Amino acid sequence: MSALLEVRDLTVDFAGRPAPRAVDGVALSVAARERLAIVGESGSGKSQLLLACTGLLAANGSARGPVRFEGREILGNARSAAAARGRGIGFVFQDASGSLTPHRRIGDQLVEVAMASAGTGRRAAVDAAVEMLGRVRLAEPASLMARYPHELSGGMRQRVAIALMARPRILFADDPTTALDVTVQADILALLAQLCEDLGMALLIVTHDLGIVAALADRVAVMYAGRVVEVGMAAALLSRPRHPYTAGLLAAVPRLGGRGELATIPGAPPAPGEWFRGCRFAPRCPHRAEHCGVDDPVLAGPAARGVACHFPHTGSDTA
Ligand code: SF4
Repeated sequence: MSALLEVRDLTVDFAGRPAPRAVDGVALSVAARERLAIVGESGSGKSQLLLACTGLLAANGSARGPVRFEGREILGNARSAAAARGRGIGFVFQDASGSLTPHRRIGDQLVEVAMASAGTGRRAAVDAAVEMLGRVRLAEPASLMARYPHELSGGMRQRVAIALMARPRILFADDPTTALDVTVQADILALLAQLCEDLGMALLIVTHDLGIVAALADRVAVMYAGRVVEVGMAAALLSRPRHPYTAGLLAAVPRLGGRGELATIPGAPPAPGEWFRGCRFAPRCPHRAEHCGVDDPVLAGPAARGVACHFPHTGSDTA
């Protein structure tokens, strides 16, 4: 299956002395209709990866490495990235205020996007906007068009932000539920899953929540200190993690009825760019050996199940 989105050897650097590197040689791909989740702690580089792919890095950031959408290179200049966003990549931020203009009515914002993306006239764009508000399960969509973002709850604003994406081929979602009340998080996730089905959309979602991964993802990439350290099909990776970091993340998930203290991963990830010789997870790894402090492990294994570790957990799974 050819990739809808293909990233090869992506690096993201920020200005400074020394220049912090947030993403360090990441490769991944997303097929049409596929849902890929990127997980990892804060500072692992996952959000910067999404921003780099869409030309939305902060002004002091720069990215290198091929990023192809539908076979066309989109990294390198703002115009090509903007064109890709316009023709097929949608972006939902942690906080919907990143997508909505506060002083403009909801309807005006939706109509403008519908006219620009579909090239339709105003009347058809109004119909499309109302239809999209209904599709994201907002009640009374026609009357909602006249309201301003601040008149809506956080969950409603996030639904409008998703509606703003029109009909992308792939939706990038950066921790889309983290700023929301816990009671509406599940609704937003169910909505994303439904839209993927209804619109034939692929999804690239960044999260630190493995519950979201289990609920939504076909495949998972685990990031640590700027790199992908494990990748695999969601069911296999979550049930049989091979990298000690993935195993640590899973052990730290609270379980209903669980007893005793929750497991944690000791220590903290290195700051972006403050990397050292050997495996970057070594100071926190319960399985480190002498060799780990000398030789930097690379992602290896079948394309469907890669791991960057000299001593990965073994098992019968090769899925
Ligand atoms: S390479 Fe060594 S230190 Fe790194 S994760 Fe594997 S076992 Fe742990």
